[in-house]
Amino acid sequence: MKTLKIAIQKSGRLNEKSVELLKNCGLNFENYKSSLISPVSNFPLEILFLRDDDIPEYVQDGIADLGIVGENVIQETEVEVSYLQKLGFGKCSLKIAVPNNNSINTLEELNGKAVATTYPVILGKYLKEKGITSDIRTISGSVEISPGLGLSDAICDLVSTGGTLKSNGLKPFADVMSSEAVLIGRKGSENEDLVQELIQRVQSVLRAKE
Ligand code: ATP
Ligand code: ZN
Repeated sequence: MKTLKIAIQKSGRLNEKSVELLKNCGLNFENYKSSLISPVSNFPLEILFLRDDDIPEYVQDGIADLGIVGENVIQETEVEVSYLQKLGFGKCSLKIAVPNNNSINTLEELNGKAVATTYPVILGKYLKEKGITSDIRTISGSVEISPGLGLSDAICDLVSTGGTLKSNGLKPFADVMSSEAVLIGRKGSENEDLVQELIQRVQSVLRAKE
């Protein structure tokens, strides 16, 4: 029998909850911080610890059979994967925000303005749908400080409590998408029986939490 692989985030906001979910599924494995792969001793499964950005492609390309990642990352990477189950953690929303003292109050007022984001694909589609043409500036992190530095008029970033926006003098005014962690897989996986078995275990853990 082939061994399945599931890709989860190595460290970051989804790591702990992903590990907890797999442990609650009855899977025994060592959660070594230093290794990239952990074998599961009581199920034909290996756990791959990766950067979240790489997970959708690994699943699409068949390097991993399953993955746990935020919907935001899947949409941004534009891969072909199947959504198997929403997991109820890692909840956040992608929002457009502007400085508190800014005169931008409507989407229309973003026309011609610079918007900094690490999500250019999702933001680009959203603005296009709304008929807005902004100058999307792609940066790789610390998006929230960019208006203060004069690098942009607005930002589009992930928000959960809104605390980071607030402490940077920003206010949200448009919801681009909401996101949570999801279990993803690939259409036509060679190990459909094992995949189904894991999905069922995940679903019963989630049901027990309700
Ligand atoms: P990696 O090193 O794996 O690339 P990262 O820095 O890109 O990690 P994290 O900040 O750990 O990512 O966030 C992982 C995911 O957690 C996000 O893609 C998103 O789905 C979710 N998330 C939940 N709340 C927030 C939040 N307030 N800010 C950012 N991401 C959040
Ligand atoms: Zn990342």
